[in-house]
Amino acid sequence: MERFIYADNAATTPVSREVIDAMMPIFETHWGNPSSLHEKGREAKDILDDARERIAKVFNCNSGEIYFTSCGTESDNWAIRGAAMRMKTKGRTHIVTTKIEHHAVLHTCQSLEKEGFEVTYVGVDADGVVDLDELRQVVTEKTALVAVMYANNEVGTIEPIEQIVEIAHAKGALMFTDAVQAVGNIDIDLSKLKVDMLSLSGHKIHAPKGIGMLYIRRGVVINNFVEGGGQERRKRGGTENLPYIVGLAKALEIAKESIGELDKVRAMRDRLIDGLTKIPYSKLNGHRTERLAGNVNVGFEFIEGESLLLWLDIAGICASTGSACSTASLEPSHVLIAMGIPHEKAHGSLRLSISAETTEEDVDYIIENVTSIVKKLRDMSPLWEEVVKKEACVN
Ligand code: PLP
Repeated sequence: MERFIYADNAATTPVSREVIDAMMPIFETHWGNPSSLHEKGREAKDILDDARERIAKVFNCNSGEIYFTSCGTESDNWAIRGAAMRMKTKGRTHIVTTKIEHHAVLHTCQSLEKEGFEVTYVGVDADGVVDLDELRQVVTEKTALVAVMYANNEVGTIEPIEQIVEIAHAKGALMFTDAVQAVGNIDIDLSKLKVDMLSLSGHKIHAPKGIGMLYIRRGVVINNFVEGGGQERRKRGGTENLPYIVGLAKALEIAKESIGELDKVRAMRDRLIDGLTKIPYSKLNGHRTERLAGNVNVGFEFIEGESLLLWLDIAGICASTGSACSTASLEPSHVLIAMGIPHEKAHGSLRLSISAETTEEDVDYIIENVTSIVKKLRDMSPLWEEVVKKEACVN
């Protein structure tokens, strides 16, 4: 049988059998509209309330703090725009974010800049960790919101969110974290992590595409983003996507229960990193230890990441060069550039995002194939020829 290895779980994940089984009765039987007053509606409303309660339990928060959305992008847009517009009424028109955020955050901030908000994009160090000294300097009494991702989708670096919350709150600003990649990787207790808002997305944790969530701490008021009926306590209009909400609740419960399995994933990740960085002129991107359990991001000089991807695809390995949303672009990753990696080196990066489904044999197969493909691509490169010649002279 031909080999197939899915190592692109940061882009999306397959919907798990348990999640499908949890959703099926909603499609088949409990298909009512939770807003309807009749029996079918009341039944749906009970299921909706139950899913919200179960999710609140996962995060140790109140069910009234949970709002369902259509995806991570919508949650990010809502959190930032909703907070900015609300805080403007208090004279706060400054937003602080980082240079390595997902485009759902960066593009929202850019559009707010056009509407008169001032946005500061804080830098990161060579490992992708947010510069806390710079953050302390730029957050002021004018700052409405500090938006920093919990973990980066490309290089996997986990950010010091607790410290960032303190910096934001010291100046009376709201703190929002995009936890789309962190959820499922980190056990998040919202009674301890004092963020004001947190976004997540179902399809990164084995729930379907098209369901997201925004946590808004009780007492925090932000403007609506999607106007409509009275759903989600009048904060987000649109008939609730009940099957997917139930699927999300199931996926979050499974993710919490299986957090212990991540040790095995971390061990495979580290073996992959060790194996791939044995290749000459290669470098790990992102923090060595403060990184997502399944994330491997390695840069290879003198090759193009896209060519590597195509050859890996032929070998049955699904990987990525960066985030799935920007793979159509030939621009080097804004994350790697912010980390100080030169353009030519940023072009040769490979992201592998493995999961508990990955096996030790898969790890061996990936290392073997990446090693031979990088060699093959370099053998075709005039730049590499120069390197070989130079090395021959030195020796
Ligand atoms: N934020 C981060 C960090 C992501 O990785 C992604 C998706 O890749 C998103 C936001 C967008 O989520 P969605 O695909 O659900 O819109």
